[in-house]
Amino acid sequence: MAEMKASVLKASVLKAWAVVENGAPLREIALPLPEPRGTEVLLEVTHCGVCHSDLHIWEGYYDLGGGERLSLAERGVKLPLAMGHEIVGRIRAAGPDAGVVPLGARRIVYPWVGCGVCARCRAEEDNMCATPASIGVFRHGGYASHVLVPHPRHLIDPLDLDPALAATFACAGITVYSAIAKVLPRPAEEPIVLVGAGGLGISAIGILRALGHRAIVVADLAAAKREAALAAGATAVVAAGEGMAARLVAACGGPAGAVIDFVNSSATAAAGYEALAKGGILVLVGLFGGGLTLKLPLVAMRALTVRGSYVGSPADLAALVRLAAEGRFAGPPLTRLPMAQAGAALMRLRDGAVTGRQVLVATDA
Ligand SMILES: [Zn+2]
Ligand SMILES: [Zn+2]
Repeated sequence: MAEMKASVLKASVLKAWAVVENGAPLREIALPLPEPRGTEVLLEVTHCGVCHSDLHIWEGYYDLGGGERLSLAERGVKLPLAMGHEIVGRIRAAGPDAGVVPLGARRIVYPWVGCGVCARCRAEEDNMCATPASIGVFRHGGYASHVLVPHPRHLIDPLDLDPALAATFACAGITVYSAIAKVLPRPAEEPIVLVGAGGLGISAIGILRALGHRAIVVADLAAAKREAALAAGATAVVAAGEGMAARLVAACGGPAGAVIDFVNSSATAAAGYEALAKGGILVLVGLFGGGLTLKLPLVAMRALTVRGSYVGSPADLAALVRLAAEGRFAGPPLTRLPMAQAGAALMRLRDGAVTGRQVLVATDA
């Protein structure tokens, strides 16, 4: 209790590097430090990853292709907003109904929270809730001194992992882990196809290897990225683009049982779909945009599955932490920056000047 008081007294405001206007530089703002109520828990942010989806939130829309836009304001995103959904922090205070929480302990924040009361939320499939309340999207996130979390079950122990790496697991990590979980179990020697050898694709190679999978075929347009995939442990690589489906089938030694598409454009999804074996599954993860036309009788007769995958559950996050803590998975290269450089970090991401992941770090982390 003493520690809680001392910590809360140390700060009386919540400092945030916030989106005040879409597309305009982030601004440092001060908000009243929230007092946790009910089951809420207040953390002091020590680390926050900078995610590509923050760029879309900052711009205010997703491009749906064909000139169509998905407006985030229409979906309920309100400004000013402290973005940031890859958060690690220390617990500083908890509401009266939060139960026993270890004050001062470091925790990863599971950000994909929902309404908290529906069947999916109660089943701890928060990311499947029909009314998302994601931290850093619909409520203030980790580009800030503090973050308020609705329930202690959204806090995951990072074990002895580097907290900067652990932060990136909350979005990039579980997105990959959850997509992989949708194509497993499957014999270790049966090829799994990954489309896109960017950050997510490279992470997927590492996680599949850590899980003991031995046949990984990766497609990418860029020769340098195909090289990176081989270096990360892919067993074969093929060039994306025209004719990709046939190259995938050849590299797999036959049609593919499982394809995970981290790009998810009209071209990549069509090629991945075309490469599927009978009973095969295509998991769509990327947000590049476009459309896919299906010949419906063939979907039925060939018993195909086409499904989406979006972030993951708290259990996925905990499982990924355990896998990494066993030393079986290294994670992406990290660049650490002071929290006050949130805006600059975002601009570097926009300009394509980032390899791996940027993580903002608080001065007294
Ligand atoms: Zn993200
Ligand atoms: Zn819900």
